[in-house]
Amino acid sequence: MPDFFILSATERVVSVTPWLASQTPAKWIWYQPRKGEDSLQTSMFEVGSADMEMEEQYRLEEEASSLGLRPMSSDIESGWDDDDADGWDDLSDCDGEIQLLRDEEIRDGLVPDACTLEEATAYRQRLHEIGKAAFVEETIIRETITAKKLCTAFGIAPPAFLEGAPDEAYHSLLAIALSREFSRRPKLPQYNTIDDAVRLLHESKNIIVLTGAGISTSLGIPDFRSKDTGLYSKLAHLGLSDPQEVFDIHVFKEDPSIFFSIAKDILPMEKKWSPTHGFIRLLQDKGKLLTNYTQNIDNIEANAGVSPEKIVQCHGSFATATCVKCQFKVAGEAIFGEVREGNIPYCTACKDRIAAEGLKSQGLKRKRSSNGQQKDRKVSDSSDEDDYEIPTPGVMKPDITFFGEDLPDEFGQRLLHHDRELADLVIVIGTSLKVAPVAEVPGVIPRNVPQIYISRTPVTHTEFDIDLLGDCDVVVSELSRRAGWDLQHHMIPDDEKVDITPVEGYESRHVFKVVGA
Ligand SMILES: [Zn+2]
Repeated sequence: MPDFFILSATERVVSVTPWLASQTPAKWIWYQPRKGEDSLQTSMFEVGSADMEMEEQYRLEEEASSLGLRPMSSDIESGWDDDDADGWDDLSDCDGEIQLLRDEEIRDGLVPDACTLEEATAYRQRLHEIGKAAFVEETIIRETITAKKLCTAFGIAPPAFLEGAPDEAYHSLLAIALSREFSRRPKLPQYNTIDDAVRLLHESKNIIVLTGAGISTSLGIPDFRSKDTGLYSKLAHLGLSDPQEVFDIHVFKEDPSIFFSIAKDILPMEKKWSPTHGFIRLLQDKGKLLTNYTQNIDNIEANAGVSPEKIVQCHGSFATATCVKCQFKVAGEAIFGEVREGNIPYCTACKDRIAAEGLKSQGLKRKRSSNGQQKDRKVSDSSDEDDYEIPTPGVMKPDITFFGEDLPDEFGQRLLHHDRELADLVIVIGTSLKVAPVAEVPGVIPRNVPQIYISRTPVTHTEFDIDLLGDCDVVVSELSRRAGWDLQHHMIPDDEKVDITPVEGYESRHVFKVVGA
């Protein structure tokens, strides 16, 4: 029985119905079967943007069967006759029809025939205690509750298209609900307070720090992947249907000018860093930093002195660039001039080759100098005598990861085969964890490893043990102060006083504010 709900991925994406994905971004582990077991699916995508594929539907059915639940299709075969109910296809087609329930809705009794919140909580705990198979045995097989009602305990409302169907018709849905809950990391009850957080900092020796755009915004670097803020607002004039297309590899290959019209705005300029980068460096200096997984491509961690061996740039960086045609690689600086001008940088290797081919076809038959440079056969072949198409050099693409591209191998390798075993604390800073597969990191770490979240607003799709809310520079400077650590940074005033207030109703949620700010 897998610990995670496994959805395999198709060639370059994602496979879950939009409704499910939009609700559960951090709970799915993506596997790429061709790469063998135990590898994170590493193609980058914004969670919630693709359709379920047949392959995944079969997997869901298998999952249901293995739990002793009956897949929907068997109900159809057994004569359950309903035009609307077309088995698994419905789950992918009926986007709006399956409704996910928030705990507040369950608490307020807004769903007829649903579990109470107390019952729901008890069922969830029980599932985590005994596992999926035993849980199904205890409930559905012993008929202590209907599948239809049990779905509500896990936040799935009975869909209208199943109304009037036999209870078995809800089994597949329940399998999804259980897997969804089971892959959710339960909060560790023993960690709640600021003191707990400080103690964890003191005691931990192998800390994973997962960072996002929020740690660079205080330096004026736009949060360019989030939709409603930052760079995207500058993109209206480009006439894209979705501003995210700027970072879509297919769009880039079709028209690189779109990307290069904004690339100068995200190109790292000065050697500066924020107090949060300084905090990561401090963890390194104290021998506590296992790995900083950063989603940022600004390479600012390096400016702060975080050593390259401690950083995984999950989405690549501008440090190098590669020709889309011949894969010729250069240092990032080599194209920065063109990029800053807003021009498209072209490959010099391609240019040289084209020039050489040009000379050849003019009958000059000049031999290549004997420096032994390897030539790309395909490119050479394409310019034979009958081909009048003017050969063009390839575009140099900065080695940042675009949507639809694979993440650097190092990401999954290091996380799954090294860090997962060693980590004793996870600190997530300045990211809303919306982009997979980085968003899956908290779910991959063993569940007994405490996790702290530092950002302006809490996330709802992943449960952290302690949420420290506010400006992340302020949070880390106060944490350091309380830990008795000296986090020096010109952006932190010497006399800074920080107020911490608890969030009502949450034992483990705290808001940090600079006094007088
Ligand atoms: Zn090239």
